[in-house]
Amino acid sequence: MSSKIGTITTEPTPKFFIVMAIAMMAAVGGFLFGYDTGVIAGAHALFQEEYSLTELWVEAITSAVLVGAAAGALSGGKIADKIGRRRANMIAGVIFGIGAVFLAFAPGPIWLVVGRVVIGVGVGLASVVGPLYISETAPPSHRGAMVSFFQFAIVTGILAAYLVDLAFSPDPGATDPSSLGNWRWMFGLGAIPGVLLIIGFIYLPPSPRWLIMRERYAEAETVLRKTLEHDEAERQLAQIEKDIEQARDKSEKTRLSAVPGIKLALTVAIGLAILQQITGINTVLYYGTDVFKAAGFESSAAQIGAQAGLGVVNLLATVIAIWLTDRVGRRPLILWGTGIMSICLLTLAIGFALLPGGDSDSGSHHDHRVHAAVVHASSTAHPRPAKAAEQHGDEKANAEAVSDEQAAVSPLGILVLCATGLFVAAFAFSLGPMVWTVISEIFPNEVRDRCVAYAAGCNWVTNFIVALTFLSMLATLGRPLTFLLYATFGIVGFIWVLIMVPETGGYTLEEIEENLARGGRRKWLPPQGRS
Ligand code: BGC
Repeated sequence: MSSKIGTITTEPTPKFFIVMAIAMMAAVGGFLFGYDTGVIAGAHALFQEEYSLTELWVEAITSAVLVGAAAGALSGGKIADKIGRRRANMIAGVIFGIGAVFLAFAPGPIWLVVGRVVIGVGVGLASVVGPLYISETAPPSHRGAMVSFFQFAIVTGILAAYLVDLAFSPDPGATDPSSLGNWRWMFGLGAIPGVLLIIGFIYLPPSPRWLIMRERYAEAETVLRKTLEHDEAERQLAQIEKDIEQARDKSEKTRLSAVPGIKLALTVAIGLAILQQITGINTVLYYGTDVFKAAGFESSAAQIGAQAGLGVVNLLATVIAIWLTDRVGRRPLILWGTGIMSICLLTLAIGFALLPGGDSDSGSHHDHRVHAAVVHASSTAHPRPAKAAEQHGDEKANAEAVSDEQAAVSPLGILVLCATGLFVAAFAFSLGPMVWTVISEIFPNEVRDRCVAYAAGCNWVTNFIVALTFLSMLATLGRPLTFLLYATFGIVGFIWVLIMVPETGGYTLEEIEENLARGGRRKWLPPQGRS
């Protein structure tokens, strides 16, 4: 039942189920991350109609969440340091709850912008304090799976938002008010998991590492004993104590530059955060629908199928990461995933160049694209449900503009389709979960909160930049060259990962820190260095 690959143990500890319960509750923040970024896809068409909003207004409302997320992520480190990871997660729950209720009762568009910024702060905060809490509380042998579970929750949240959007979207041609759709419910339902997050964390223990930094050793020991066997708990307690004491001896713990290995750790974390976004996952997820169209699947049922299909692929492939990460490590998953993603992006570039109409993005539909991509930027990828999309005349026109010669599914169309699915799958078992995992593992105890916040902030800012530049790139370069550029980022990223990213799986956070302080990248402490 148990196995050992390299230095990574996959033997289930007797405390596995307690740890699992901790990760599941903590991952509710991930669910809200996914839900609140995804829900706008179905909501925006409805409030646009209700308030007769211009595209600019819709863009402001939809992209406000990214602005909030960057701010929430960047302030997450300070909050997690001051009040602890556990209470910081509860604060995220409060923000999610307040934001959801605020949006549900928003009296006008300006309040929608404000509400979306508030929700964004919750999303950004959760993206820092969720993985931080899990990585500091999980035992090394299961830490990868536990943090990957956070990504699983993000994808589940996106899918849940999609279903809620469908449920509250208008029936085409409906006149009776109950069938007209309701964006307020779409936003408002997000309050429920928000409350769950608060209640869940009341019962979860604080992070043992944060407790030790506050010199609350007895409490830390109690927490470690909950998740680890007695001897291992003692060993880790001593190791964490020693590590934190050493850090205090060396310098003011607040001075980043004095922390050994910090440059390397920051380079790796920020590099991975950027790589996750510049390979264009969110734009590919969005244009998945177009790919299906280009492949000859014209009906709206096929579009819904495409959206749901990509979501399910995303979800299932995340399970592969959860299963594999503590068995084979983070590096192999990131390398395989980035490699496959790059090949898929190259295939997409070639496919779009050869498919009739595959380069149709440049030019005539630019306005529509600007709107759609900003909506997408904020919805973290998901095209609106078909029912709501039907309200958008310009989108319909765009769909109809796909030429008749594509009516039959061509082999090239199928190839492009498969490349899209495989791209999403490769992201889901690699850069999706592994980036959040490595970011939360790689920093020394005394600066982890701050540095995770910097890396997460970079992730959100890059997300925003990619979305905005995507528009101009489609207009100027066209789709094939745009995907070629993402492929190039992928290939460069692959080489960079090969050189720079150390394996972190199976080691304690303190061992990872020690290795980085010694300048180790791929080189690790000799196995006998571990007890
Ligand atoms: C990324 C998001 C992405 C999501 C999709 C997350 O890890 O940070 O940008 O939309 O995965 O599954």
